[in-house]
Amino acid sequence: MQNQEDLQRLLHKLDGRGYKAYKDLEGAYSFSRFQLIVDHAQADPFAPPCRIRVRVPQSEAGFPEETFKNKIREIALRDFLTRRFEEACLRLVHGDRGSGKSGRISIDRPGQQILERSSVLVSPEWVEARFTAGLPAFGRRIAGREAAAMLLSEIPAAAEDSLFFSRLDSAALYSHIRTAEDTDALRAQLAEKDLVAFVADGSLLPRASGIDDRPLKERVVPFRSPESFRITLQTPNRGEVTGMGIPEGVTLIVGGGYHGKSTLLRALALGIYNHVPGDGRELVVTNPSAVKIRAEDGRRIEKVDISPFIANLPFGRATEDFSSEEASGSTSQAANTMEALEMGAEVLLIDEDTSATNFMIRDHRMQELVPKSLEPITPFIDKIRLLHRDLGVSTFLVIGGSGDYFDVADRVICMEEYSPRDKSAEARAIASRYQAERTAEGGEHFGEFARRIPRAGSFDASRGRRQVKITPRGLHRIQFGTHDIDLSAQEQLVHPSQTRAVGEAIHFALRHMGEGRTLKEVVAAVFEDMKEGGLDVLHPGLIGDLARFRPQDLAAAINRLRTLKVTQM
Ligand code: ADP
Ligand code: MG
Repeated sequence: MQNQEDLQRLLHKLDGRGYKAYKDLEGAYSFSRFQLIVDHAQADPFAPPCRIRVRVPQSEAGFPEETFKNKIREIALRDFLTRRFEEACLRLVHGDRGSGKSGRISIDRPGQQILERSSVLVSPEWVEARFTAGLPAFGRRIAGREAAAMLLSEIPAAAEDSLFFSRLDSAALYSHIRTAEDTDALRAQLAEKDLVAFVADGSLLPRASGIDDRPLKERVVPFRSPESFRITLQTPNRGEVTGMGIPEGVTLIVGGGYHGKSTLLRALALGIYNHVPGDGRELVVTNPSAVKIRAEDGRRIEKVDISPFIANLPFGRATEDFSSEEASGSTSQAANTMEALEMGAEVLLIDEDTSATNFMIRDHRMQELVPKSLEPITPFIDKIRLLHRDLGVSTFLVIGGSGDYFDVADRVICMEEYSPRDKSAEARAIASRYQAERTAEGGEHFGEFARRIPRAGSFDASRGRRQVKITPRGLHRIQFGTHDIDLSAQEQLVHPSQTRAVGEAIHFALRHMGEGRTLKEVVAAVFEDMKEGGLDVLHPGLIGDLARFRPQDLAAAINRLRTLKVTQM
């Protein structure tokens, strides 16, 4: 293998030559304490940057086995190292070195969640960081001396500062690992205790702003469970934790406008993730299959059985295999619900703020004016209990606008000036004092629904001359071949690297299609492969900006493909 001096000589030789000659850099170089591997050199200064890995043997890196002895710890360690490498780059990298993206060195930048990422890998033998570098140029000529500064000083300095155990703040590292482990332990206890969510006392739920996921710092009311919901759970690292435990069934979150209802629901929706220490939501956990459901008018729907909610359309149009190029508020919310159930969601989270009113409720007066025979929609209120009884699916519902829901709720949490109160008994008393005059329209059963088999031929990632061209555009959009997939209703996606991974996974899923496999089975097969090979199975080259997503996210993206065709069985 070539070494550091060879790399120096090579850069000297390349200085002043045409940019394409950077290709000669591809290969591995041994440095004194690690290996530097150039996987892919960019073809011109404006192309996507060069992909580089630094691999440090554990004999040098020195991470104690306990920092990665189980999957949760390993993921937390990898996440922590990604953050430290990023900080080191900010501190040590000079940046601007000529044309295009010259001079930049960057690794994936995590947010408030601790996610499995391909940016850093850890094994008993080595630690590896994957990042990109914009190779420097003046015009289109290689700037060899600048490149040497990056590859021979900046990268080694960043690696020295972040990938060696002895150089790190070990208290912060252990806090990261233990926090993730505790969150995970809390989540694991939910099922055995028949709970669907837990919010620890003292949690800080509100965020700095709509575009800033860090905690709100000023005038925050810490979470305090109502006495009646307070339970104590055990954690491996911080002992007992008390907080609000919510059992299965139907839970309403009510209260005046601006009293913190949506903030609580949003925290529950993200309780599927582990959060960094200091986030405020580290000890908020939700059933991992929970899906936030909302209206999404304009989305495409491909043969979804929405008949439990919508039937008898005008002209006798069927709804067992409902398709639409541009769904309405109610049909999109019905399809979102059915697709979530199809994927095995055990908990639904719904906020009136983002729901179609006619999907949620039909009151007495409207029932008098418009007879059931002329209303295709069976409102959610009439299915919510059947959903639990027949399918075991629980619901959290933010609803400040309709007391009719008191009749179908197992419990009612009322937010008052950001503090939750248990108003279940009061709501029950009101419900019996003022009998709702509306008639239940939901029938005896929730209803059957069909299994959907995606057709492989309906996915095509090609664009122009490229066989596979998948481009993520931020958090909520993927350009897949020549089509755009709009994921703006996927409120539980939190990081663009998840979106990138979902995009890759759609194409990867093709190999598992056919032989009558349902969408759920196809997605499960993709996850089975990832269990073995990690996120790397999704992409042909080794890249550092993939992050873990859920089966629901992949299904949601496939369901929104404008070209998708499915057969029902
Ligand atoms: P609602 O859904 O009841 O109308 P929101 O959840 O949207 O209310 O909250 C309204 C505002 O109050 C938001 O700006 C939010 O950040 C803030 N907020 C929510 N919870 C708290 C809290 N515990 N402490 C302080 N501010 C909060
Ligand atoms: Mg709200």
